[in-house]
Amino acid sequence: MPTHKAKNVVVVGAGPGGLASAMLLRSEGYNVTVIERGGRIGGRTGAIEADGYRFDIGPTFFLYPRVLEDVFAACGRNLWDEVPMVKVDPMYRVAFENGGEIYARSDLKEMQEEISRFSPQDAENLPKYMADNTAKLERFRPVLENEFDSVFDYLRPSVLQSLPMLRPHRSLDRDLQRHFSDPRVRQAFSFQAKYLGMSPFQCPSLFSILAFLEYEHGVWHPKGGCNMVMQRMADIAREDGVEFRLSEPVTKLMFEGDRVAGVETEKGRYVADAVFLNADFAQAMTDLVPEKKRPGWSDAKIASKKYSCSTFMMYLGIEGHYDDVPHHTILLADDLQTNIDDIHAAKKLSDQPSLYVQNASINDDTLAPPGHSTIYVLVPVPHETDGIHWGNETSRFADFIYKRLELVGLKGLRDKVRYEKIVTPDGWRDDLNIYKGATFNLSHNLRQMLYFRPHNRFGDVPGLYLVGGGTHPGSGLPVIFESARISTRLLASDLGHA
Ligand SMILES: Cc1cc2nc3c(=O)[nH]c(=O)nc-3n(C[C@H](O)[C@H](O)[C@H](O)COP(=O)(O)OP(=O)(O)OC[C@H]3O[C@@H](n4cnc5c(N)ncnc54)[C@H](O)[C@@H]3O)c2cc1C
Repeated sequence: MPTHKAKNVVVVGAGPGGLASAMLLRSEGYNVTVIERGGRIGGRTGAIEADGYRFDIGPTFFLYPRVLEDVFAACGRNLWDEVPMVKVDPMYRVAFENGGEIYARSDLKEMQEEISRFSPQDAENLPKYMADNTAKLERFRPVLENEFDSVFDYLRPSVLQSLPMLRPHRSLDRDLQRHFSDPRVRQAFSFQAKYLGMSPFQCPSLFSILAFLEYEHGVWHPKGGCNMVMQRMADIAREDGVEFRLSEPVTKLMFEGDRVAGVETEKGRYVADAVFLNADFAQAMTDLVPEKKRPGWSDAKIASKKYSCSTFMMYLGIEGHYDDVPHHTILLADDLQTNIDDIHAAKKLSDQPSLYVQNASINDDTLAPPGHSTIYVLVPVPHETDGIHWGNETSRFADFIYKRLELVGLKGLRDKVRYEKIVTPDGWRDDLNIYKGATFNLSHNLRQMLYFRPHNRFGDVPGLYLVGGGTHPGSGLPVIFESARISTRLLASDLGHA
């Protein structure tokens, strides 16, 4: 580890972006202190532990380990030795309310057989879809791996080459029509837009790479859940000398002139040469940085941005097991378009919501006491809006979802529940400091991506760098880890260490 860089860096927030940054910054020889508001690490990728049950708070799909492999390697570790993981196959079940289901299989021949039950022609087109997306990812990788500080970055050769493949005015669903004619097949390759909290009918076509990444690199389950990856990252950072301060909210950033000079908490002041902000971008800017210090990001501008949907969550510890319910199930509503319009346009609770269920205990016996298992339910809902009062709605909506879960095979679930925790958009806002409770951060439309997303090197405040879902490249674990790489590189370059 280089030691010549005796500079202090404070990381605000111990979410995935903050933890990856801490590891990378320390491997570069900086003195790193991570300050976290909550009592535990991981942020939205943390754990809920109660009554002997263990749940992931947020991410349950661990995808595209390549970026994290590099982060571990930079710290002299091997991800696969450090974090036990199993490949989930079939990767997931997509159940259609109007009949039928597709088991997504990583073996392409088997996947073609699945698709041919819906459309033999679509099955034949699968190799072409894979080839197109291999090329798309290769072209786009340099764009995702580098900062977008200036409009002139659009003129970089790698960007210019990738633009024709971006098809900016085409939605994900429309792009998939080139390959798949059956709407259910398209839905199985586009529901992943929900990982970004977006509608497949509006999400940019670039994001066809999300499903592709699953087929190409697999869907992984870290033993104990994705939160265990965070735990190991924090442990490694600690072993390497990073200091952690938990249960200590940062209350403001300190300045010397326009430059950031550290952070303040109720317990003290931390002087720093640079600050890495991992806390939710919109909320942290509003709370921690005086408006006059950020002319490019006034409160009004932040409020005017588009935000992702939120999620209604049920974390259920149950007596018994559902051995016939797969690890991951996505239930897609009969009238998917109306369900999506309800979330993103009408901003109301759907009469017929799509939802996701995780029954991870079938592959992992560490999540519950013997004879018990865990069920995790995620229902996409509008982010905070005047029209929905969760104080009045929560118990009605939960009753409704319990009934709906019978559609995916969870019969008699309620009688088996021994632990129940429900989180609404209000909970995301209050417990994790998430602006509007928008769980997947700023939306990923083209007006809020690349140069138009808050920059990794936050231009208004010298010395301040952003990491996490609110900056470039975006929300989702692999790109969040990428943001840590980009910001670490930028800091090293700004300090003349690159
Ligand atoms: C329900 C759900 C499901 C998801 N599923 C997936 C998935 O399957 N796959 C995937 O790739 N991604 C998924 N995501 C998206 C994304 O990967 C995670 O949300 C991820 O945790 C975001 O990471 P982050 O680095 O932006 O920081 P966060 O996880 O938001 O962490 C930020 C941290 O900053 C802390 N903080 C906030 N304010 C302060 C302050 N003032 N002082 C100190 N600390 C502060 C917070 O307490 C938090 O710990 C999911 C998200 C959610 C919510």
